[in-house]
Amino acid sequence: MKILIVEDEPRTGAYLKQGLAEAGFVVDLTADGQEGLHLTRTETYDLAILDVMLPGLDGWQILKGIRRDGKDLPVLFLTARDQVEDRVRGLELGADDYLVKPFAFAELLARVRTLLRRGMKVKEAEALRVADLELDLLRHRVFRAGKRIDLTAKEFALLELLMRRQGEVLPRSLIASQVWDMNFDSDTNVIDVAIKRLRRKVDEGFTPRLIRTVRGMGYVLEASP
Ligand code: CA
Repeated sequence: MKILIVEDEPRTGAYLKQGLAEAGFVVDLTADGQEGLHLTRTETYDLAILDVMLPGLDGWQILKGIRRDGKDLPVLFLTARDQVEDRVRGLELGADDYLVKPFAFAELLARVRTLLRRGMKVKEAEALRVADLELDLLRHRVFRAGKRIDLTAKEFALLELLMRRQGEVLPRSLIASQVWDMNFDSDTNVIDVAIKRLRRKVDEGFTPRLIRTVRGMGYVLEASP
């Protein structure tokens, strides 16, 4: 799942990005409000985490823009301590939750998961399944034929994308934009290496093989070709 963070305090931004990436999320981080709103229009996110005071556009203006675009993207606000007015205003504008700075990362992660779960209740199940392969979106666990498979954060995000778009041949450029962040150079063979590792974990010793290479086009995951 993909999260946008708009935070201009470099240390907080880097800390959030790293923590969420380690928890298995794909994260885009920007310090600029204008760019943040632009990213919600050009990329697909499952959640946005917005600071209030930002250069370019402030957090309120980004939120207004998102809602004006007709998007129900869940938004978590980061507000300064004791700024009760901020919280009220944020909730009135359509923020889904807020967190007061400074906060513990575990608290943020819990809120993020709650918001994502709430969003999913409406749209889809909490697990993806293809044949005997199961991916638990919130607990970040994968099982094949009932056997637990350990994946890195990137492998998990990659498998999630392939399972969501099962039967569809995904070009490397699309995989790069959805699984790696916006600064990733898709000319590298990082994707091929990651697919190879993922295939070894998910397909080796099981039938049928689910992940296939489509020469010259990309990769596809499907139960029967
Ligand atoms: Ca700020």
